[in-house]
Amino acid sequence: MVNMRSPEQTERERLEADVVIVGAGPAGLACAIRLAELIKQHREKSGNPELSEENIYVIEKADELGMHSLSGAILDPKGLRELVPDFEKEGAPLDTPVQKDAAYFFTKNSAIRFPLTPPPLRNHGNYVVSLARLVQWLGQRAEKAGVNVFTGFAGSALLTENGRVVGIQTDDKGIDKRGNRKANFQPGYELRAKATVLAEGPRGSLTKELVRQFNLDDGRNPQVYAIGVKEIWEVPAGRIQPGTVWHTMGYPLGAEIYGGGWIYGMQNNRVSLGLVSGLHYADPRFDPHVAFQKYKLHPFVRRILEGGKLVRYGAKAIPEGGYWAIPKTYVDGALIVGDSAGFLDSQRLKGIHMALKTGRLAAETLFEALRTGDSSERTLQQFAAKVERSWVKSELWKVRNFHQGFEHGLWWGLVHAALQFLTGGRGLRNRYRSRPGHEHYKQLKELRGSQPPPFQPDGKLTVDKVTDVYHSGTRHEEDQPVHLLVHDTNICSDRCTLEYGNPCQYFCPAAVYEIVTEGGKNRLKLNPSNCVHCKTCDIMDPYEIITWVPPEGGGGPHYEGM
Ligand code: SF4
Repeated sequence: MVNMRSPEQTERERLEADVVIVGAGPAGLACAIRLAELIKQHREKSGNPELSEENIYVIEKADELGMHSLSGAILDPKGLRELVPDFEKEGAPLDTPVQKDAAYFFTKNSAIRFPLTPPPLRNHGNYVVSLARLVQWLGQRAEKAGVNVFTGFAGSALLTENGRVVGIQTDDKGIDKRGNRKANFQPGYELRAKATVLAEGPRGSLTKELVRQFNLDDGRNPQVYAIGVKEIWEVPAGRIQPGTVWHTMGYPLGAEIYGGGWIYGMQNNRVSLGLVSGLHYADPRFDPHVAFQKYKLHPFVRRILEGGKLVRYGAKAIPEGGYWAIPKTYVDGALIVGDSAGFLDSQRLKGIHMALKTGRLAAETLFEALRTGDSSERTLQQFAAKVERSWVKSELWKVRNFHQGFEHGLWWGLVHAALQFLTGGRGLRNRYRSRPGHEHYKQLKELRGSQPPPFQPDGKLTVDKVTDVYHSGTRHEEDQPVHLLVHDTNICSDRCTLEYGNPCQYFCPAAVYEIVTEGGKNRLKLNPSNCVHCKTCDIMDPYEIITWVPPEGGGGPHYEGM
């Protein structure tokens, strides 16, 4: 058993399930809904009561369903249609169908419209949605189907025995900052299962552990990520029609940083807007949150927002490595689905449809495992085979080299993208390699130019990180162990200050990492209760000395309507 934060030996209650799903996002809930459906059909057909929907457990670290789910979000409905064929009639919370779309290139002061919207950014037939609301609706369907959904419980450790995953342990509750038990201490549960599904979203902590223990990324490209920083605004009526979808390239990101912006018109004069920045930039002083604030000052964006009101904020990592970065997704007793495995089309900026589809395919594999009593690799490898035969593979294959093409900047990326478009995704060779994001940093001594002065928000259109965190609804129990494990703080105050200028204070979009100077020496100060669970620190620390582990279940952002 690998326990990442166990205070001391503890007697734990053991619960037995058929399947434990970690994470109630679109992938985990699609898996639960489909598996319950198959079990019910089987029972009705065979009259055999041996399998039951009640033996499917979903655990979710958020205090309520959907509250840790964040995306732009535009839903390509094909994954949802396969799961719930009449989803419109069934009341799926689809904010508004896409009415019109366009793409722009931003210079500092102008917006140049592309004469034609590039095919990957065409969204007719899709919906602008709140992912949080969609997840709430899926969760209600799972519960109605008889699945046990537990919110406020984080998966804190994988349970493995003899090279097999046998379940997970949930978080201990009521531990103080020093690791001592408080009066309200409650030990986590041992949830034992015939099969465990990791559906934790991007850079899941148990997934990371599983991949490491079982070498599941052998021969794969390293997963690379972007960070999406998002706000929702209420704007004066008439500024943007619901269903308007605009994507932007260029300013404020320079040609050396991969990414772009989005502006989506929603119902009730709400606008979803955000900036995606590739987490493989060279300048360790780059700040994705500041870049997003500058984005709002662009005349095109300012015109939409001025006189409006910031209502919500969030940030999250996005797995963008594509087909070659997907690890082996099955081991004895476990599967990895959705964003946790990296099923996301980075060219279209879409992953919800793939999360729903891979969750569904996992359910079909798990049903066979339960029916035959064999949840070893021999049965579970069928999941990977099903993915290979599905539209997930064909969509990912066409863009298998897309993201890697941008490793050397925007212009080369566009050349590679054009070549790949003409060659069915191949480009110059069948497989482009990539490097982990943090390896792209240059040291301060290699950078030209002095550091720009700190960005000063105006408090109206632009805000600081702490104000944005307030709008994310983030709350954590204050008296609990720090959930950001910095394995050697001496590196922070000595080497990192000199070599990279402590990039944690810039890349974290929630002001969790602060460098304070005491007695002429820098010291790292942490504000863990601000954390919006975006996972950027786990990805972009130059020395890989930061490990993000789940805080006490129930803590974190509250992405209502996001
Ligand atoms: Fe994201 Fe890490 Fe900052 Fe939390 S501490 S908000 S996970 S970068």
